[in-house]
Amino acid sequence: MHDFRSDTVTKPTPAMREAMAKAEVGDDVFGEDPTVNKLQDVVAWKVKKEAGLFFPTGTMANQVAIKCWTEPGDEILLERRSHIMNYELAAFAVVSGVLPRAVEGERGIIRVPALARELRPKTYYLSAPSLVCIEDTTNMTGGTVYPLAVLKEIRAWTTESGLFLHLDGARLWNAAVAQKVEPFEIAQYADSVMVSLSKGLAAPAGSVLCGPADFIEKARKWRKLLGGGMRQSGILAAAGLVGVMTMIDRLAEDHENARALAAGLAGSRFKTDPPETNIVIIDVRETGKGSDFVIAQLKKAGILATPADAARVRLITHNDVGKEAVNAAVQAFRELK
Ligand SMILES: *Cc1c(COP(=O)(O)O)cnc(C)c1O
Repeated sequence: MHDFRSDTVTKPTPAMREAMAKAEVGDDVFGEDPTVNKLQDVVAWKVKKEAGLFFPTGTMANQVAIKCWTEPGDEILLERRSHIMNYELAAFAVVSGVLPRAVEGERGIIRVPALARELRPKTYYLSAPSLVCIEDTTNMTGGTVYPLAVLKEIRAWTTESGLFLHLDGARLWNAAVAQKVEPFEIAQYADSVMVSLSKGLAAPAGSVLCGPADFIEKARKWRKLLGGGMRQSGILAAAGLVGVMTMIDRLAEDHENARALAAGLAGSRFKTDPPETNIVIIDVRETGKGSDFVIAQLKKAGILATPADAARVRLITHNDVGKEAVNAAVQAFRELK
């Protein structure tokens, strides 16, 4: 089986297993795990924020960020198809008591005019907008990357409008590699940023939330409240460190494989937008069948994929699917009945 369902299926590398076995650990609730502390420092340094905090998942890190930037009854603005909007179980409503205002992006990329249309005045008789969340790279809209000029405009607008800006950077590393910039050149526009270790970087678990020191202190309390205060989590952080130190540059291979997959389907019944990173969204309408049917057929040919929606299939390239897997996927699509 070639598993293109997600880059989360990546198994920890031998170097990660070794680092995990040897990791120096302590009780992180007391702030005494040296490996966790090192990971937080390294990631905060990479995105040039004052501090970082290790979380079991990206979902918890995103939700704690929302909690720290808002008051109950506030509004948050976010893209209609974003992860926070659709795949975090409306946790923003449960944890933070905020109202989401969906903004329509172009392949997931929101621009200032679309945000401005959804911004309501800050007045006592209306729920107050306080936070914008953006996703870079975007997930369900095809791994698209925010042009730096767009981020700069959004930042200027959020500042002028008195809003905080949180960056869901689960795949920030992919965006940086695709744009050939350092991660901080993207993260500089956001007040806080969440990055994942468990996706393209292949670590078994974990995300890091970064931002100003006082924000991270507040986040530490909410992480604990939600049950995310772990103990000898340096075992996990050790794998994450190997990820951020050695696995970022190789994401370029995943991007190349995604382009090869799209190129292999050129001229077939399957239309794809040009992949910008490691996510390929494939339109299956011309088969006259839905994405679930196509996914079942692909599975019979040894290819695992997920639906992006009823008419589109999503394939993600990663460390555990190389050129051979890509060729097999192209063949499976072309031979699809
Ligand atoms: C995967 C993902 C998350 C959540 O990360 P988990 O660790 O799975 O909770 C958040 N945002 C985006 C864009 C993602 O792709």
